[in-house]
Amino acid sequence: MQKLDGNIEAFKVCETDGRYAVLWKRKDGNYGPEFVASETWHQIRQSKEKVNWSKLVWFSQGIPRYAFITWLAIRDRLSTGRRTSSWGQPQSCIFCMEPDETRDHIYFACPYTFMVWLKVTGNLFGLEPDPDWDITMTRLRTGSYDRLTFILLRLVFQVSVYLIWRERNERKHNTSYKSVDQLAKVINKTVRNRITSLKYACNPRLRSLMIRWFEAHDTTT
Ligand SMILES: [Zn+2]
Repeated sequence: MQKLDGNIEAFKVCETDGRYAVLWKRKDGNYGPEFVASETWHQIRQSKEKVNWSKLVWFSQGIPRYAFITWLAIRDRLSTGRRTSSWGQPQSCIFCMEPDETRDHIYFACPYTFMVWLKVTGNLFGLEPDPDWDITMTRLRTGSYDRLTFILLRLVFQVSVYLIWRERNERKHNTSYKSVDQLAKVINKTVRNRITSLKYACNPRLRSLMIRWFEAHDTTT
């Protein structure tokens, strides 16, 4: 039995009536005499499961810089206090002084960030947002939303993740101290600017995006 990448048995050599022949493995696990490139490719390629959160991060109406920070957050790679404490730099939550500053605390178990999150999501989830990270991710990934709502939910998620992280860093360097209302307004404005930049008015499929955004919020945020 021959192996191509150390794991996959792509072909084998058989002896029949004193003659040797190469048999190539098929998708169904049987072997056949002809070499079929596509079938063999499926045998040797490293098949990786598509990560189930990729649609939350990478979508055409998203903002690449914000998507990157969201990607780090989802992979729990932001340099939170929990992570920097292993380098000898403990850091409590700069918003509420909770001693263990974790990704899950910042998004959105922290009273400050959860209040912001409540304001900026409006009724997009269709029910009250939850402060728990895993529940939030599950709702974003598996909830059934209409197309416009799903775009807006992902957009407000990545804008919130980015701007909360920026506010956290600016507070750390004493360059900002936004209230819940102020940060919610910046997030709201950033989402609206993004919708406008999509030239949604010219695109019938996106024309209702701004209307849906306003519908989801009262006018005070
Ligand atoms: Zn906090």
